[in-house]
Amino acid sequence: MKICRTIREMRACVEGYRRAGMRVGFVPTMGYLHEGHLSLVRAARARSDRVVVSVFVNPTQFAPGEDYAAYPRDFQRDEGLCAAEGVDAVFYPEAAEMYPSDCCVYVDETRLTRGLCGAVRPGHFRGVVTVVAKLFNIVTPDVAVFGQKDIQQARVIEKLVEDLNFPLEMVIAPTQREPSGLAMSSRNVYLAAGERERAASLYQALQRAEEDVRNGATDAAAVIASMRMIVESSRPTAVDYIEIVDYATLAGVSAIQGKCVAALAVRYGRTRLIDNAILVPPVKD
Ligand code: AMP
Repeated sequence: MKICRTIREMRACVEGYRRAGMRVGFVPTMGYLHEGHLSLVRAARARSDRVVVSVFVNPTQFAPGEDYAAYPRDFQRDEGLCAAEGVDAVFYPEAAEMYPSDCCVYVDETRLTRGLCGAVRPGHFRGVVTVVAKLFNIVTPDVAVFGQKDIQQARVIEKLVEDLNFPLEMVIAPTQREPSGLAMSSRNVYLAAGERERAASLYQALQRAEEDVRNGATDAAAVIASMRMIVESSRPTAVDYIEIVDYATLAGVSAIQGKCVAALAVRYGRTRLIDNAILVPPVKD
């Protein structure tokens, strides 16, 4: 497995794959890898000949006061997990390699980022979309795999690929969970023992929403209210949002008719967790 610390090395490595006629799969991450990331690696492997993983805690997607400095990092461990998973190359640049001091061009998505995390974390998606555009230009993958866990991010990147004509296939892979239902996340290490148990309420609320919709519920406000009851009973520190949005536009809906997403962002102590479920109303006959 090759470790590329510079853009030049990464490009040379991918050029080698291309010369050999290989299809390149790509999984961008911020490291501190877990089974969720590794499931994306497997999805990339199934669709390509060579798999590149990037490990980069992207400073531009963290607002001042967020957890950029505290974000968990352990490259040795990540390297071992990637090697065990048969990853071919890891792109592991320094922040200064990705952002020399004179950068002044950014990529903004202006519609799908208005609500949900975009509303609560101003500037976050600008950082995400910019770094992913840069990574796509460096790695030039044929296929890129993102997790449904960050559904707004995945939808925004799909729009980036479409609107800026990146010649690649986007795959959104399912969310991997702990036995309790808690979505795996690098940030779960911040959770104290009691908080970790309480945090299972996010998934319980999503399951309730899925069940309500399966049973014919269409009133988004009522479904949100029952989700909120479950989340509130776990004594969260704060609820950033609990929403039901249209899958295509990510705008809030009042009636659950087409494909929708139930999405929530909840804080326990200093840990902010997000999760979501896709809601598909039953077909009426
Ligand atoms: P991150 O390192 O948190 O930026 O995540 C890198 C990629 O892994 C993103 O596409 C995430 O959506 C995805 N991911 C994170 N957690 C999970 C999970 N529990 N299941 C599936 N994919 C995940």
